[in-house]
Amino acid sequence: MSKPKTAVIIGVSSQDGSYLAELLLDKGYKVVGTIRRTTSMVHENIEHLKGKIVIEAADLTDQESLNAVIERHQPHEVYNIASQSVPGDAWSHPFYTGEVTALGPVRVFEAVRHFCPTARVYQATSREIHGGVSGHETATESTPMFANNPYGIAKAYAHMMVDCYRKSYGMYVCAGILFNHESPRRSLHFVTRKISMGVACIKLGIKKPPINELGEPLVDADGKLHLGDLNSMRDWGYAKDYVEAMWMMLQQDMPKDYVIGTQTRHSIKDACKAAFDHVGLNWEDHVVSNHRLIRPTEITDMIGDYSLATKELGWKPKVYLKELMEIMVDSDIDWLKAHSV
Ligand code: NDP
Repeated sequence: MSKPKTAVIIGVSSQDGSYLAELLLDKGYKVVGTIRRTTSMVHENIEHLKGKIVIEAADLTDQESLNAVIERHQPHEVYNIASQSVPGDAWSHPFYTGEVTALGPVRVFEAVRHFCPTARVYQATSREIHGGVSGHETATESTPMFANNPYGIAKAYAHMMVDCYRKSYGMYVCAGILFNHESPRRSLHFVTRKISMGVACIKLGIKKPPINELGEPLVDADGKLHLGDLNSMRDWGYAKDYVEAMWMMLQQDMPKDYVIGTQTRHSIKDACKAAFDHVGLNWEDHVVSNHRLIRPTEITDMIGDYSLATKELGWKPKVYLKELMEIMVDSDIDWLKAHSV
């Protein structure tokens, strides 16, 4: 019997890292996942994976920690999933965002170049690299980059370094230019999860809801869920579908970047409607737009043309917004009931 392949997932505690770990375990990989060293032993997204994967500590700001993991495990595949991933926090922490989200991936590439140059590397690029580009309603792999916030600019730098490492060193490095993707494991910093958790709290009459990024209850004393610009448009898919594309990208003969999206657009109002409808409530009775939650710059309305991924990888999205919101609402209701909050 041949030895199983080894994959290192940098940032395994993330939404995507945890689903990717499950996918790779199913495919028979030995999975090594890195987490940041903190005092907490609890990582909700991967509690069920403890004992099935090897967990290492590594930080994208610490070259030595990345070198050690790559040198020790000699992986066939490395997935850099980690980043300071909250666009909203990038305005308040622009230097840290640059350190982690722009330079962090380069530290991963350097660790691979020096200690395991044959490993194939996946980098998590974001559609935010096209933040303010106008005249392009649909993104393909050749759409110009025009990031307009510190997070998108950091991702754009890392994205260009992917191509640089391919061309300069002949390494197998590729990037997924991913549109928004969500799941019950999405952090509460993001609007879809705020909506699903808000709906669950309202439906169950939760008295002490989780707090939002302003440090205020997600649902206020009048039962209102506070969100930002309700007319913002996004192309939303399901994280479980998107991690399959990541794996497929590393199985090709040649490394290449691919756009991954659903090629559909919906507003935040649409997401609210899908979620509230699911539990028999009218979203307009419960949602308010709070100007303090509106981004300083909004990204343009754009959808992801995934036709190259379909043609070359055989990838297609399976879950779209309505079903996605229903999955998330059901999960949050179950979570609140199980934790008897
Ligand atoms: P999450 O927000 O769920 O997780 C981010 C991960 O990065 C966490 O595991 C976090 O660790 C880790 N991390 C943060 N800072 C560091 C650091 N300094 N060193 C090491 N690890 C660090 O991400 P998602 O699963 O949503 O997204 C995965 C990747 O894809 C990210 O790079 C994101 O920017 C990108 N992306 C995501 C999209 C989406 O819609 N989800 C769209 C396009 C791109 P900890 O658990 O300790 O906080």
